[in-house]
Amino acid sequence: MAPKARRTNREDTRSLVGWDGIRFTVPADWNVTGVSTDRSNGYLKVDSPGTMFLQVKWADRTARSPRSPADMIARLVQGLRRQPEQTDGVPDLRPLLDAYLKETAKRAKKERHSFECKVKPPTTEAGGERSTLHFSWTGGGIGQGKIWYCSVCHRTVIAQVVGRPKDPVGDVAASIFGDMRDHPDEPWTVWGLFDLVVAVPDGYVLRSHKLLSGYMKLEFAHRRLGRIVFERWGLANVARKKFTVQEWLGQTSEAGRHQAQYKQVEANGHAATQASGRVRGLLGVAAAYKDALPSLRPALRYEACAWECDETNKLYVIQTWMPMHAAVVLGDLVARCECH
Ligand SMILES: [Zn+2]
Ligand SMILES: [Zn+2]
Repeated sequence: MAPKARRTNREDTRSLVGWDGIRFTVPADWNVTGVSTDRSNGYLKVDSPGTMFLQVKWADRTARSPRSPADMIARLVQGLRRQPEQTDGVPDLRPLLDAYLKETAKRAKKERHSFECKVKPPTTEAGGERSTLHFSWTGGGIGQGKIWYCSVCHRTVIAQVVGRPKDPVGDVAASIFGDMRDHPDEPWTVWGLFDLVVAVPDGYVLRSHKLLSGYMKLEFAHRRLGRIVFERWGLANVARKKFTVQEWLGQTSEAGRHQAQYKQVEANGHAATQASGRVRGLLGVAAAYKDALPSLRPALRYEACAWECDETNKLYVIQTWMPMHAAVVLGDLVARCECH
């Protein structure tokens, strides 16, 4: 079994945010208010309960053309392509940062504030992995951030904390940037939002997401290995009512359609129900073949697990579809899903 990637919280007062390899912790009362599912133009916004917020944008070297020209990171990517690379492959970050700050300055000037920014000399960080420029600005509010290029994953990331002049922007930026990662340390990628923390093996990409207060769903797909769906309901006792966990799994998942066999197991210390079945019927099988193309190994094997975390009053259902002879990952997915 692969090693666990337990929550990296330094203390309970911080919560983990993980999105496509980007990972950091924020004060527990901050909330993710914006995410992008565009793999080449990543974006996250996290708001404090007050006037501070964090913005993180990233672009991968292999990024395709951005869809939204209005998006700042799109300009960054275009800038990245236009910039001649230095001999060691590190893109010139200064023009990217200048373009970013110019946008910020424009906004400040529109609101009739004077704008001033400082950019520190380039440094290397994270044991030489990152080439970094630190910056700060004032103008209507204050911002402190950094732009860096990671030579391991070839990602360019720009992150800043913004607030009002009275806000402790510098301290907050230091606490967030101190443990910010831009690629996974192992062949599993952690995805964490609000208090849902899960991990998927390398190569799975996010296909869809639903982030409501009482219900969250993350669906991942892998070209050769099939699909994984995580679902979590808040207020388990209210959602589940009188149904058992097995009945809940039967009603909310595709276990019934795949004529699954149930068995009682344990999940993270809780009583759990596991379902094993297979995709049946002409339509189901045809769809599985279509999803797998160009591979001819459709994800016909179905495994699912459901449990209720009585400590947090949440209900979890994890479903997986995989080719018949692929390794079963359900056990690892359950172990890495942090319910309490
Ligand atoms: Zn990296
Ligand atoms: Zn639990």
